[in-house]
Amino acid sequence: MKTVLITGADRGMGLGFVKHYLSQGKQVIATTRRTQSSQHLAKLKAEYAAQLLVKSLDLGQPESIKSLADELQQANYQLDLVINNAGISYGEPFGEWTAPAFNQHLQINTLGPMLLNQALVPCLAAGCKLIQISSGMGSIEWNIGADNPLDAYAASKCALNILSRRLAEKLKSQNIIVLMLNPGWVQTDMGGAEAPTSIEQAIKDMTSTIDKVSLADSGQFLEADGASIPW
Ligand code: NDP
Repeated sequence: MKTVLITGADRGMGLGFVKHYLSQGKQVIATTRRTQSSQHLAKLKAEYAAQLLVKSLDLGQPESIKSLADELQQANYQLDLVINNAGISYGEPFGEWTAPAFNQHLQINTLGPMLLNQALVPCLAAGCKLIQISSGMGSIEWNIGADNPLDAYAASKCALNILSRRLAEKLKSQNIIVLMLNPGWVQTDMGGAEAPTSIEQAIKDMTSTIDKVSLADSGQFLEADGASIPW
């Protein structure tokens, strides 16, 4: 059975990925800060007891990342797919920028996923796909919403992209594929109800792209449907 690890699995697209891969018969390691209180994951656990493992992970706490990776390594897990999905987004208008907001976005959206990737290397099966859920706001060329206050968010996704691109080179010889995906504007707590794309559609598009990519695509920044995005 193939094994998939998903971060930020208790709601939004993370939960969508969990449902998709459970329905495909995969073993899913769903990580969340809310192991006790997530009703969505508790319900899925009741239905898919043999396939679903719910594990604690707070990307803002390096010791939480290390503890999860150590536990998986000790239990000899071999991961076929890792989806770095968890993220935060909030705005501060220019003139009111603060260091804590920039630090928090970089910690959760950039450093957390990269430290997790690094810690999981001993658990990655050959051919494993490391997916970084990025954002079109991380594209310098697109420069989406330059007049909106999501500057720290945009910077954190841009930084995620360059580190992921560098990681792709470092892991190529181990046959590990690294991919950055823009889900589009999606109806989640983060995206809001006015977003044009449903979670189901975004998951359908992204999982189909994930299925198709090979080592030759490693290091690419792609749309949900696989079209390439300018840096
Ligand atoms: P949601 O806000 O719906 O969910 C965010 C998830 O991230 C939650 O599970 C949340 O957990 C988790 N999370 C937040 N902080 C931490 C942390 N410190 N440690 C572990 N988990 C954490 O977001 P979406 O589903 O919309 O977003 C998923 C990804 O897609 C993100 O990376 C986002 O940047 C990206 N994206 C989203 C877009 C959209 O339109 N929705 C557009 C482009 C990119 P908890 O419930 O505990 O808070």
